[in-house]
Amino acid sequence: FKPVVVLVGRPNVGKSTLFNRLTRSRDALVADFPGLTRDRHYGEGRVGDHPFIVVDTGGFEPVAKEGIMAEMARQTVQAVDEADVVVFLTDGRAGLTAHDREIADRLRRSGRRILLAVNKAEGLSRANAAAEFYELGLGEPLPISAAHGDGVHTLVEEALQGL
Ligand code: GDP
Ligand code: MG
Repeated sequence: FKPVVVLVGRPNVGKSTLFNRLTRSRDALVADFPGLTRDRHYGEGRVGDHPFIVVDTGGFEPVAKEGIMAEMARQTVQAVDEADVVVFLTDGRAGLTAHDREIADRLRRSGRRILLAVNKAEGLSRANAAAEFYELGLGEPLPISAAHGDGVHTLVEEALQGL
């Protein structure tokens, strides 16, 4: 059994950067352009002896009914359906946004196990990075830096806990 960890979050929060760190691959395109990763990407990660599947998703746009954004949303919904655990990424520098709230609502209704991560938290105090994200009601926000690696191991261990 390899648990499936699905990375979800609005564009540019660092999903592909985290995917690359977890899988140590260049499989997902990382770019300064939001939303460049247009489809799902699968990779394998490992913590100790325990392998897991990581899924990078392109986006989660609840409003789009057709076109590329709707297709991305459809793929993200499907990925969430297949998840053993969802890692919901937010951006600790940008702060909490309306889009984050929409995604949180969608995820809550999915009934999946959800971990809330606050990315780009390097150099921010733990309390400052995480404080405003408590109100999403998804448990304790875990500050991480996908780019530098801070908090990533803890996040993965929490994600795989009990699976
Ligand atoms: P995605 O759209 O969610 O897949 O986001 P990307 O992984 O493509 O990252 C978007 C931007 O955020 C890129 O410029 C990354 O270099 C940057 N980024 C990702 N993780 C971090 C981080 O931990 N800290 C900082 N400061 N920037 C990051
Ligand atoms: Mg991406």
